[in-house]
Amino acid sequence: MKNITVIGAGTMGNGIAHVFAMNGHKVNLVDVSQDALDRAIATISKNLDRMVSKGILDETQRADTLANLETFTDLKPAVTKAELVVEAATENVELKLKIFQQMDELAPSKAILATNTSSISITKIAAVTNRPTQVIGMHFMNPVPVMKLVEVIRGYATSNEVNRNVMELSRALGKVPVEVNDYPGFVANRILMPMINEAIYSLFEGVAGVEEIDTVMRLGMAHPMGPLQLADFIGLDVCLAILRVLHEGFGNPKYAPCPLLVNMVTAGRLGIKSGEGFYMYKPGTKDVEVAGNFKQLN
Ligand code: NAD
Repeated sequence: MKNITVIGAGTMGNGIAHVFAMNGHKVNLVDVSQDALDRAIATISKNLDRMVSKGILDETQRADTLANLETFTDLKPAVTKAELVVEAATENVELKLKIFQQMDELAPSKAILATNTSSISITKIAAVTNRPTQVIGMHFMNPVPVMKLVEVIRGYATSNEVNRNVMELSRALGKVPVEVNDYPGFVANRILMPMINEAIYSLFEGVAGVEEIDTVMRLGMAHPMGPLQLADFIGLDVCLAILRVLHEGFGNPKYAPCPLLVNMVTAGRLGIKSGEGFYMYKPGTKDVEVAGNFKQLN
């Protein structure tokens, strides 16, 4: 598969585009926001520079990777030649269903339509297309250039051939694909999100402060990052959207999102991408401190 289209140039889309372009694929990166596209190319360039300085890539590979990338604000010209489309737009069911209907109309009939959704049903997304056997979940992890795992999710109708192709393609990208079935949250987020939600409940109920909760999990459980910092990194809006899918999908109150998470998202405190979540982030520095709202607890 030479021609790949990536839809959505946010946290995940830029990483997915980076990895495909670095592995010799022509990548059309699409976003409704020109700003998001500009930021994505700047992030990819910065990450490639870091790889060159670490000796992982040479200058020619860096230039070739950037030359493999083209950006679009319009879906149509970006998908007409695609062999694979990976959708990584905002985690919203209605939006994804609309994008898949459009992709189904515009992409070549043989193209595989994949989604990087964290939790939304692949079967539901596939059902709005005329090619449900060619729809699959390709769930990359953040940051995509670094993380090895790709959760490959088979929808109810996904064909064996499409599954095999996506597993092989993921290996060719240097990733380790793991095949899972299509149930809310799949495996990764079904296990991760209840832990993050419980960490937020622990803060909400005053069991401990932000740094204390994260330190317990880092030093006690050997997690590289505490759950509150990880939530900031993922995006609190994304965490909330996933918890709502789990809550609705299983009908089990154990997945109900903590009211503090709901309030933070409503207030626009989305984590790193908005500059503040449980911690505050200063652009251009690695300095991190506990956000003002939670300082009194520390
Ligand atoms: P994000 O908010 O950083 O980026 C989403 C991008 O989609 C934005 O740039 C937005 O402008 C764009 N967009 C919205 N509507 C669009 C449309 N109609 N066409 C094209 N672009 C559109 O979100 P993200 O964190 O990159 O998440 C993207 C997807 O990846 C979600 O489904 C999410 O669940 C999943 N995911 C996220 C993570 C994570 O750690 N953030 C990890 C794995 C999977």
